[in-house]
This record gives sequence, C-alpha cells and structure tokens, in this order.
Amino acid sequence: MGGGRLTLRGLGGLGRGGLQGESGFTLRAFQQDSLKPTVPVVPWDGDKEKKKITSVCVSLVAPSADMMIRDAAQAANAGARMVEFRLDRLTGSDALALTSGDDSRDTLLKRLADAALENDICAIATARPKWEDPGAGDVFAGAGRPGDSHASAEAREIEAMRTGVLCAASEAGFACIDVELDAAKAFRAEASPTRHAKTIVSSHNFEETEDMDTLRARIARMWATGVADVVKVAQMAHNAFDASNLLALLEEAAHSNQPMVALGMGPAGLCTRILAPVFGAAFTFAALDDASAAAPGQVSVDSMVNLYRTPKLSRSTSLFAVAGSPVGHSKSPLIHNSAFVSEGGVDAVYVALEIPKGRLEEFLESTMLGNKLSGLSVTIPHKEEALSLANVVHHVCASIGAANTLVRVDEGWYASNTDWVGVVDSVDASVDVASSSAFGGATVDVLGAGGAAKAAVYGALERGAQKVRVFNRTVSRAEELVAMIKDDRVEVGITLGDDANGGVLLNTTSVGMVPDTEASPVTDSSVLPSYRVVFDAVYTPRDTRLLKDAAAAGCSCAEGVDMFVSQAVLQYLKFTGKVDVGALTTLREQNGVQIVEEPEPAGDAKVVTDAMKAALLSTL
Ligand code: NAP
Repeated sequence: MGGGRLTLRGLGGLGRGGLQGESGFTLRAFQQDSLKPTVPVVPWDGDKEKKKITSVCVSLVAPSADMMIRDAAQAANAGARMVEFRLDRLTGSDALALTSGDDSRDTLLKRLADAALENDICAIATARPKWEDPGAGDVFAGAGRPGDSHASAEAREIEAMRTGVLCAASEAGFACIDVELDAAKAFRAEASPTRHAKTIVSSHNFEETEDMDTLRARIARMWATGVADVVKVAQMAHNAFDASNLLALLEEAAHSNQPMVALGMGPAGLCTRILAPVFGAAFTFAALDDASAAAPGQVSVDSMVNLYRTPKLSRSTSLFAVAGSPVGHSKSPLIHNSAFVSEGGVDAVYVALEIPKGRLEEFLESTMLGNKLSGLSVTIPHKEEALSLANVVHHVCASIGAANTLVRVDEGWYASNTDWVGVVDSVDASVDVASSSAFGGATVDVLGAGGAAKAAVYGALERGAQKVRVFNRTVSRAEELVAMIKDDRVEVGITLGDDANGGVLLNTTSVGMVPDTEASPVTDSSVLPSYRVVFDAVYTPRDTRLLKDAAAAGCSCAEGVDMFVSQAVLQYLKFTGKVDVGALTTLREQNGVQIVEEPEPAGDAKVVTDAMKAALLSTL
C-alpha cells in the first residue's frame, strides 16, 4: 500500500489553491506547500467525474493497539477516509509503551500509522488530557494544563511527556496531530519545524455551546497559535439553535478559506456532523458501527455514507428536517433519507432538529440553518405553531388546526397535514376499494380524542363517512373534539359496536403500545365482527393485540406502519415537487392566509413507499 493519494478541495468552491487544481498531500503526510492550510479529502470511490467529497473520520477508542488496528480496517471498509487514534484510551502494555519515551513508543506509533496507510486512510493522533476532556482515557491522567501556575512538577512532567508523544506521532507517519488550544504553544516549541504532519488545533466544551462572540474569539486565538492547519471546535449542543450556530461558524470559516471542523456533541448536535459538508467543513466525524453509534448524538460511518450520503453533500443540497421536542427517537430521518436513496440519489438530506416548544417560528426566521430549510415534517409540540406561521394553508389542515408538514413557497410557508391521509389511505389499501373508499357512506368509530383522533375524524369525513362516533376514556375530551369539528355527522360515541353495520374502527389511543403489548383498547372483542375494517395507529409493535383480535374476528386490518409510511410519502412528494405546490388552488382568504386545495401527486410513489416501509420495518 501507501501509493494512494488524497487530494485537496477548495472549500465549498470558495477555496484558494484547491480551486485551481488538485495540489495534494500524500497519505503518509500532508505535502509541504506554501498554500496552507489544506483540507484532506479524497475522490469518491468509483466516481469518474472527479466529484469532490468530504472525508468522514472515525474515532478509534479501543483499549489496545491490535484492536485499534482492526477497527481502522473496519472503518475504512465502511467508507471512512480518516481515522483518529485516541492514544489516551490505550491500556496495559500499550499504555506503558506509549509513555516510555523510548523505542517501544515509536514502534507502537509507527504500527498505528502504518495500519492507516495499509487501509489507504488518513491517520490523526490524539492524546487527550483530562484537563481538556474529563472523559479522556487514563494514559495521561494527572497531566497539568500548560500555563497553570498551580500545577505540580509531576503534572508538568506528564504534560511534557504527552507533548513528546504527539511530536513522536508526527515523526512516525501520522498525517495529522490533534493539539488542544492550551497545548499548542508547547507543541510548537517541541515539534520539528520540518515535520510533515499537519496540526489540528482543537477546543472542547462538554457542558454547552458558547455564544458566537466567545467562539469567534476562541477561533481567532486558535489560528493565532501559528501551528493550526485546521481548527476544530466541539461543543455540547442542547438544541437546534446551538447546532445552527456551529454550522454558521463553519460557513464563516469557509468564506475565509480557513479549514475548520465544528461539531455539536450530544443528540441535538447530530445534524452538525451530517450537514458538515453543506457548510464547508474540512471533514466530519462518525461512529465506527451501530453499537458505538447507539451512544446519543452518534451515527455510524455506514449510515453516514450510505443513508445520509454525507460525503456527497454540498452547498447545493436541499435541506429537510423533522422539527420536534424530543425528536431524537424519530424514525423520519431514516425513512426520508432511504427514499432519497431509492430514487437514485436525490440531492437532498433530512435531519432531526431539537427545537424547544414555542420557538419553531423563531428558529425558521432567525437562524442560518432555519433559513436554508426547504421543508419540514413537524411533530409534537410544534404542530399548532407550524400552522400559525404559515402563509398558505391546506383546507383540511386549517380545519384540523394543526400542521405536520411545512414546505417553503414563494409566499413563505405552505402548511398541510398528511396524518389524515395516512389514516384513510392505509385503511383503503387494506380492503378492495377499486371504485370507492371504505369510508364512503360508512359508520366510523374512532377510539381516542387526541391529535391522531382529530386527523382520523377529518380523514373519515373527507372520504365520505356517513357518521363518525368518537369514544374516549376522558369523555369531556371527546365532547370537546366533537364541538370543535362542528359537523352534524360527528358525535360522541355511547356503545362501541352498536349499529356499526360493517363500518370502520380506528384506534388512535396509545393502548397496546410497547411495553404494554397485551393490552387492547377494545376489551370485549365480541364487538369486532361488527366492523369490516379495523385500523390501529400504534405501530410498536406492528401486530398489536387489537389487530390480532380483529383478524381472528374476520376483519380487514390496517396497520399503524402503513399510516406512518403513507403520511411520510405524501410529505416526500411535496418536498420533491411531485405535488406541485406552485399549482395550489386558492379556496378563500382568511386573516391574510390563503386557504388552498392541492393537486393530486403526479406519478407512482411505489418505489418510495417500498423504500420507506422497508427502512421502517428494519427497526421494528
Ligand atoms: P395524544 O394526543 O396524547 O392522545 C392520546 C389518546 O390516547 C387520548 O385520547 C388518551 O385518552 C388515549 N389514551 C392514552 N392512554 C390510554 C389508556 N390507558 N386507556 C384509554 N385511552 C388512553 O396522542 P396522539 O398524538 O393522538 O397519539 C396517539 C397514538 O397514535 C400514539 O400511540 C401514537 O404513537 C400513535 N400515532 C401513530 C401515528 C402513525 O403514523 N402510525 C401517527 C400519530 C400518532 P385521554 O384523553 O383519556 O387521556
């Protein structure tokens, strides 16, 4: 190995030397050139058009060199182009060798650097001290922060030994050395001035994302060290506002041709890792595999490369998101990105955004990321606010009083609600309704009076139900729902099953959901034969107690999985222009808002539907 060659990339088309040509650096080390700083990227495998991509880096945290070498190969196989060896995580004889200061240290470092070369990937050496990261490994425990006048002689000695390890890594063939801001001066003094390895100067805050002025001042200090080829800022992100600020820093750096990595740690920061290339990041970080990605705020390198397609994202990529709180558990990123992939690689990406209650409009109007979004799925607790901020509203969404979809249009935001379509389409798909809907002229019994119930009632009315009866544990909520809908066909239910006449039963309560999977909202299953179709909004588990009982009673069954997929497919069609939101028909104006109808989706959505359903089922 070793002959592979990484190339440089002008930052998002704004860069300096990289724009003119592919002046590069070798895998062994960055090439010495006068045009610095430089950015490590490689051409997309198999891409003949010299398409530039952003490298994904995997941090290797195994306790032994052998395991790190194994993991480096795994990372490379999964699509990583860089690995970070967390030397501070080594234990036992490898930790002893690393801190020995003799040949065994250099041999160990060379083994690690060579492992990266053998896999054609770029190696970063990181020896994190606990004064920077309290969660760092124990190898350099006790090291004193440079400049700390209270540090003991021993603490200074350990820190000097740590600097020695970084300098030795630089000589051993590592392409990059990560040096904390406070250690950069000492590193500059000790490291060989003719070293080949580039330097990442890094700074971390594990508590919060600091304000922009503080971060800008820190970044200026990082460049002022004189050793930085790339600066890396990692901050704990608590919400999408934090994430957007970090991405805005990346964008500022790209405009100044300064290679930078800005990461949001924690679940709310995940979008910064995925969207890094869109905002000109030098590279980004992923977890080795699904097991390590199970930690909050991580995504595996496989998902980053093959689902989010992060290496291929660029400034022209369209951005979509689900806005919610909490939103980390949402399956929407999985299914929407699977749909983008299924359609042959639509240049779009979809992430989850943690937006605090009551701040959706503020996010969309005042943040850099909010300004760049082309569309959103909206979930709890933002559905009402999403409706209130829209300038154009689908008429059923206006009636429901809650939106789950926002699409950017010339007038501002177009709000619609695809949940009701999800309910009625999944019911109609479960029965043979070649000519008319299962709801046409039917009695429809709805269990529940929450958000999903509202969508179910409107869906049933839209598809021509003759009567809709609402049953709820808390009867007053059912009464409120009926009063709000103001339609003579809707009433509070008295006795389930009576006069159902082969109609439709829609469960929209959460009864039967994991972990209480033996529970059913219909305790007396002898009423079930009164219905032709039974639908359950619950989709974890897929096969609920209610649906099992309904199947045994001879009913057709419609699953919550199909509702989830169906509402997402319609969102997808709106996001990607297959519902022509430019061709909306205005029905009326209401307080300055256009209330509209929309055209039917163009074409067949089978490929997208199958991709979304397969992705969802793979997680159930
Ligand atoms: P919600 O607004 O909180 O309403 C919950 C409803 O469930 C209320 O009517 C509540 O009755 C009832 N309920 C809860 N626990 C109950 C119990 N032990 N016994 C009887 N009734 C009970 O929630 P939502 O947004 O409508 O969601 C409801 C369910 O639908 C959830 O399981 C959700 O996951 C599912 N859902 C599925 C999809 C999909 O795409 N498949 C979409 C949306 C929702 P009270 O009023 O008496 O509290």
